[in-house]
Amino acid sequence: MSLAERLEKALGPQGVIADAAGMARYLTDWKRSVTGEALCVARPASTGEVAKVVRLAAEAGVPIVPQGGNTGLSAGAVPLPAGRQLLLSLERMRAIRACDPVGLALEAEAGCVLQTAQERAKAEGCLLPISFAAEGSATVGGVVSTNAGGVNVLRYGMTRAQVLGLEVVLADGQIVRGLRRLRKNNAGYDWKQLFIGAEGTLGVVTAAVLRLVPLPRHQVTSLLAVESPAAALELLALAQREIGDQISMFELMSPTSVELLATELGRAAPIEAGGGWLVLTEFASSLPGLAEAAEAVLAAALEQGIAHDAVLAQSEAQRAALWSLREHLPEAELRAGPSAKHDVSVPVSAAPAFLAAADRALAGEPSPPRVNAFGHLGDGNIHYNVLLGQAHDVGRINRLVHDVVTAMGGSISAEHGLGQYRVAEWARVAPPEEVALARSVKRQVDPQGRFNPGKIFGD
Ligand SMILES: Cc1cc2nc3c(=O)[nH]c(=O)nc-3n(C[C@H](O)[C@H](O)[C@H](O)COP(=O)(O)OP(=O)(O)OC[C@H]3O[C@@H](n4cnc5c(N)ncnc54)[C@H](O)[C@@H]3O)c2cc1C
Repeated sequence: MSLAERLEKALGPQGVIADAAGMARYLTDWKRSVTGEALCVARPASTGEVAKVVRLAAEAGVPIVPQGGNTGLSAGAVPLPAGRQLLLSLERMRAIRACDPVGLALEAEAGCVLQTAQERAKAEGCLLPISFAAEGSATVGGVVSTNAGGVNVLRYGMTRAQVLGLEVVLADGQIVRGLRRLRKNNAGYDWKQLFIGAEGTLGVVTAAVLRLVPLPRHQVTSLLAVESPAAALELLALAQREIGDQISMFELMSPTSVELLATELGRAAPIEAGGGWLVLTEFASSLPGLAEAAEAVLAAALEQGIAHDAVLAQSEAQRAALWSLREHLPEAELRAGPSAKHDVSVPVSAAPAFLAAADRALAGEPSPPRVNAFGHLGDGNIHYNVLLGQAHDVGRINRLVHDVVTAMGGSISAEHGLGQYRVAEWARVAPPEEVALARSVKRQVDPQGRFNPGKIFGD
């Protein structure tokens, strides 16, 4: 019996897709730059079924590629272009098992869409503080497995900081049920940390308990035009001094970002960028007086010449319109053609120096490319995306940018993970002892290499 037949026997007809047309959407990544091969797609409906899939695949000697919403930006969720692999989609495991608004915790299955979990938390008066443009498709399991960042990191931290408990299926099919809701637990190693950000290379995440926070009653969103990244940093410093603990988001968009929004999507900013940079900020609090405090920050920024134009959203519709500029940037860039994406982080105060140094490095190229730089300036994470023309050598551009990042003590993967895209570059720039330690963890937890081959390590 083939693996697909065995799986169908175990999971039922809904649990397996084996025809090429049905499998196609699982095999190409969101950027549409990698298409992989799989024997079939398994769609288990419960943790027990995931364990069965893992055992059957192990018996057949077929490695597994876990997939959630397939929105990852490093091609980690699609199989390698060649080889015998099984794609394991968590899409049928969508339940929210519990939401506790007093204990501030939500338990959801891995295939639950992030937005669905956010909406449930909101309905209970809570905020699930993980948010980014793909939240309508990304899943809890994918978010945990990529340790996703997004726009709330400045205030609440990465996904890692929101995970209270995990349930995982290991390489031998064993289920580890660690769905605790504890804020404090120092009993032994905190093993769940290994699976957060592991990009599906150590096991399958089947459910998670996520930390919630009280939903702030007031929020103020504003868009400001500044001349340079250095001015944006000055603005951050001003806001931190005046309103520090209430800054939730602080996003930067470059002149190229503004142009792409207009040319590719017909979206214009409601203020005059004047060829400069835009900063989108959000302050949030449950205490009264937030709007006045935010207005005072904006007024000070204009008076001190840090910003030359600013607008404050007066309604939810205006807030959504401001956010949609930032959220549509990946799509605008995708429409503009191929790009070399660099999801980098540097110490926050070094961000302007990084942007200048990377621009200088590319200016020396025979045909200097356009750069769509944007990102989460408040936590030092810049998406430094180079728009590619025929003449450009992607590998060389990656090396130039990553060398600048590395020289500044930064990371070549701030939040998207290594997946397939950054494997060679990580091997090139990472300290060898760190790679060796990561390999020894992989060998220990997944000795036969059953999970997500070719990701992170490239072998
Ligand atoms: C428009 C857009 C904007 C984005 N913005 C941000 C952003 O601001 N910040 C940010 O951090 N990311 C961002 N991302 C990328 C982000 O990492 C992913 O969208 C999300 O975290 C992945 O969720 P997913 O369910 O789609 O996972 P997938 O893409 O399906 O998988 C991602 C990785 O996790 C593994 N995986 C998935 N599910 C499981 C599981 N249950 N068990 C084990 N491994 C699993 C996969 O094998 C793969 O390696 C963005 C993506 C898009 C398309």
